[in-house]
Amino acid sequence: MSEFVKNLMAQVKAKNPAEPEFHQAVFEVASSLELVLEKHPEYRKEKILERIIEPERVILFRVPWADDQGDVQVNRGFRIEMNSAIGPYKGGLRFHPSVNLGILKFLAFEQVFKNSLTTLPMGGGKGGSDFDPKGKSDSEVMRFCQSFMSELFRHIGPNTDVPAGDIGVGGREIGYLFGMYKKLRNEFTGVLTGKGLNWGGSLIRPEATGYGAVYFAAEMLTTKGQTMEGKKCLVSGSGNVSQYTTEKILDLGGKILTLSDSNGYIYDEAGIDREKLKFVMDLKNVRRGRIKEYTEKFKSAVYTAIDPNADFNPLWNHKADCAFPSATQNEINGKDAANLLKNGVYVVSEGANMPSTIEAIEQFLSAKILYGPGKAANAGGVATSGLEMSQNSLRLSWSREEVDQKLHNIMKSIHKTCVDTAEKYGTPGNYVNGANIGGFVKVANAMLDHGIV
Ligand code: NAP
Repeated sequence: MSEFVKNLMAQVKAKNPAEPEFHQAVFEVASSLELVLEKHPEYRKEKILERIIEPERVILFRVPWADDQGDVQVNRGFRIEMNSAIGPYKGGLRFHPSVNLGILKFLAFEQVFKNSLTTLPMGGGKGGSDFDPKGKSDSEVMRFCQSFMSELFRHIGPNTDVPAGDIGVGGREIGYLFGMYKKLRNEFTGVLTGKGLNWGGSLIRPEATGYGAVYFAAEMLTTKGQTMEGKKCLVSGSGNVSQYTTEKILDLGGKILTLSDSNGYIYDEAGIDREKLKFVMDLKNVRRGRIKEYTEKFKSAVYTAIDPNADFNPLWNHKADCAFPSATQNEINGKDAANLLKNGVYVVSEGANMPSTIEAIEQFLSAKILYGPGKAANAGGVATSGLEMSQNSLRLSWSREEVDQKLHNIMKSIHKTCVDTAEKYGTPGNYVNGANIGGFVKVANAMLDHGIV
């Protein structure tokens, strides 16, 4: 570690105590940026990185609501407006009991670079709440969303800050949030993305993150003259990203062996085909059940419960070619990375945000496998949100094929940026450096142009 990164991290830790995920995200980016800061003293002089790690604005608010028993519940709401140098703040809302300031700051920080990589004019933001939608009735979720929006509405807008979904926030939640925003503002605008199709949503937005992660994996494979055809794949999670990752792997001829949720995972030797995926979509999106139920329906699968005391995740310990971590941060630790490599995995395309720990990333990089970090590999979701914003502004809807083609082209372009940038800075094949530097330069140059603000 250089003196510069050492000093920067000491400051970040002192100023942002108890935010380990934020420290981790900054460390990863700063380590890559040393290469670019050496060549561009103007970035150092203008303290561009020091400014990027400081959010432009943090909003923290109380979210009181009444449950079905009439009892008052109190949650905490957040919006991190991280960087608006190249466009309005843009990034999802996460509803999960683990949500805190540090987690949202790491996500907002990552989002700045990811959004820049998409080639679209979007700044970075993230928000959410420690509210847990699991086990809540639809009307409880609605009352929570309405209370949440009754504060958030004054901080967002189609040209200011445009939230979307993330963990725990899907079509249902976006609907309730949009309805309340529209009522409070008395205007119909593209203030949120991931909207329903008949009220301003874009075709392919629900599919985009998962499809994009598979397009990115396919692009990485192209550099070795290979395709997804016949590849055995491990997928974690069973939510939005996992479902459409599974669908696109099937489209491209791959075989999916695993899916999971926070209680455990299933391993299906026979592969998860379209009929089984349909069952999972109904289980998770409609019945809101647990992945364990998969094995009651499909006898070829084995369920393993998560052992909270284990120091590795057995999902990552099966023979395969590709891994698509699509659940949450730090779901692949050093031991998991070693297991993946031992089992022959040579493609990792991150649908989730920061699913690999620093130790895991180091192993992927030194093994020189095709490792696509989340900032690049899962940027298809926000890119298609950007396309939803464009359609809203134009008051037009593009066809499924048109949006999918644009998404595919954006993923190819992000891949090319990563490859070219990694090579330009003397680390060919290193997609971490490619994504971090590629995302940084555009934002940094815009900040230079805007002066010290
Ligand atoms: P989702 O639909 O809510 O699904 C999340 C999945 O991950 C669920 O299966 C969930 O299981 C599992 N999970 C969540 N927290 C977990 C934990 N602590 N341990 C184990 N499993 C856990 O969310 P999503 O939209 O698919 O998001 C998944 C990941 O992709 C997140 O990292 C998100 O930031 C990232 N991402 C999403 C988008 C997007 O467009 N949605 C875009 C870019 C990146 P349970 O049901 O048991 O909680």
